[in-house]
Amino acid sequence: MSILIDRKKCAGCGACIEACPFQAINLTDGVAEINENCRVCGACIKVCPVEAIMLVEKEKQQKTEMETYRGVWVFAEQRAGKISNIAFELLGEGRKLADALGVELSAFLIGHEVAGRAAELFSYGADNVYLTEDPELKDYRTESYAGVICAAIEKYKPEIVLIGATNIGRDLGPRVAARIGTGLTADCTGLSIDLERRLLLQTRPAFGGNLMATIICPDSRPQMATVRPGVMKKINKVSFQNGKVIRVDYPKSILNVRTRVREIIRETSKVVNLEEAQIIVSGGRGLGGPDGFSLLEKVAEKLGGVVGASRGAVDSGWIDSSHQVGQTGKTVHPKIYIACGISGAIQHVAGMQNSGIIVAINKNPLAPIFEIADYGIVGDIYQVLPIFLEALEAKRKTS
Ligand code: FAD
Repeated sequence: MSILIDRKKCAGCGACIEACPFQAINLTDGVAEINENCRVCGACIKVCPVEAIMLVEKEKQQKTEMETYRGVWVFAEQRAGKISNIAFELLGEGRKLADALGVELSAFLIGHEVAGRAAELFSYGADNVYLTEDPELKDYRTESYAGVICAAIEKYKPEIVLIGATNIGRDLGPRVAARIGTGLTADCTGLSIDLERRLLLQTRPAFGGNLMATIICPDSRPQMATVRPGVMKKINKVSFQNGKVIRVDYPKSILNVRTRVREIIRETSKVVNLEEAQIIVSGGRGLGGPDGFSLLEKVAEKLGGVVGASRGAVDSGWIDSSHQVGQTGKTVHPKIYIACGISGAIQHVAGMQNSGIIVAINKNPLAPIFEIADYGIVGDIYQVLPIFLEALEAKRKTS
C-alpha cells in the first residue's frame, strides 16, 4: 500500500505536513507531495480537511500518477544558437502523435539568448515552447542539460518525450531516462499511437536489421524515444504562427557542474549533408581503395550531388564515417541514389531504400543491390563511370 494525494483536491493548507512524524511531505507549487521518507503511517489522512489523501494499492497509485502525464515534447537541439534540422523533423512527427492523443505539442529549448528561435519552432508545428536560458547553458553539457530537462519533466509531466538520435541526443536521452526512472527506445525509425492504452509504439530495427521490433513503455512516464535524423518528415513551414513561450524554472544548483567547455573546434574536413542531398553517389568496397572516391567526387560534382559510402568502405579507412549510409550511418532519401560497388547488404539498404530512383553499378549480376535498384548496370565501376562522366560532359557542352 502507499499514500496518494489527489492534486486537484489538495488545498495546500499544510495540515498534513505538520501531522507527519517522518517529514515525508513537502509543499510544491501549493500542492502537498509525498517524499521518500513516507512510512505509510496514515497520520496525514486523518488530518486532511478536504479528504485529498488516501491509502491505495501501489499499482493503482502508479496508474493514477501516470494519468497526470499529458502532452508531447520534442527536445529542440541547437548548436551555436541555430536549431538543428532534427528538431523540425521531430515536430512533424510529434504533431501527428499529439493530434492522435488530443494533446498539445511542445518544444523544449535550452541555450543562451535563444528565445528568438521560438518563432521557428511554432512555424514547424509547436503549440508551446518551454524555454530555459542561461549563459551556462550556451553549449551542451550532459549534466546541466539533463538536470534542466529532468526538473522540467518532473514539473510539467509530458507523456511523450522525443529526442534526436544525434551525438548530443544519444548522450542526453539515456541520462534523462535513467534519472527519472523511465524507459527509452533508442534509434527509432517509426512511431505511432495505441490510442486505447495511450501507448507510444516505438519501432526500430533489431538483430542487425533482420526484424523490426515495436517497443512499448507501459509502466512509467514519460515514454521516451530517440529518433534518427532524416527518417521523419518536417511539416511545411507556416509563417507567422503563434504559440506560448513558457519559461522553465529550475534549481540553480543544477548549473554547478564539473565539466567546462574550453573551446569548440570545428571539424576541418568537408562536412557532408547527406540527409538533405538530392543526389548521392555512394561507393563501397568494390571501389578497391580510397582513390575510387576521387572518381565518385567528380561524378557527384557534375551532378550537383554529394558522396556517400557503405560501411565496408568506411571500415576499410577509405572515407570518413560521416559519409556512411545505412543502419549505423545516415538515413537518406535523395531523388537519385547511385550505388557503386556496393553489394546491397540489408544494413546498407535500411538507410537508402526510400530514395526516389536507385541506380546500381556492380560487376556481380547476382548482387542483392539489384533487387531494389530501378536501374542496374552490370559492369566494372572503372569502366562504367568514365563513360558516364564523358556523357555528362558532352551533355553540358550541348546544353
Ligand atoms: P561488399 O559486401 O564487400 O560488396 C562489394 C561489392 O562490390 C560486391 O557486390 C562486388 O560484386 C562489387 N564489386 C567489386 N569490385 C567491383 C568493381 N570493380 N566494379 C563494380 N562492382 C564491384 N553497412 C552499411 O553500408 N551501412 C551501415 O550502416 C551498416 N551497419 C551495420 C550494422 C550492423 C549491426 C552490421 C552487422 C553490419 C552493418 N553494415 C553496414 C555492414 C553490412 O552488413 C555490409 O558488410 C556492408 O554494407 C558491405 O559493404 P560493401 O557493400 O561496400 O562491401
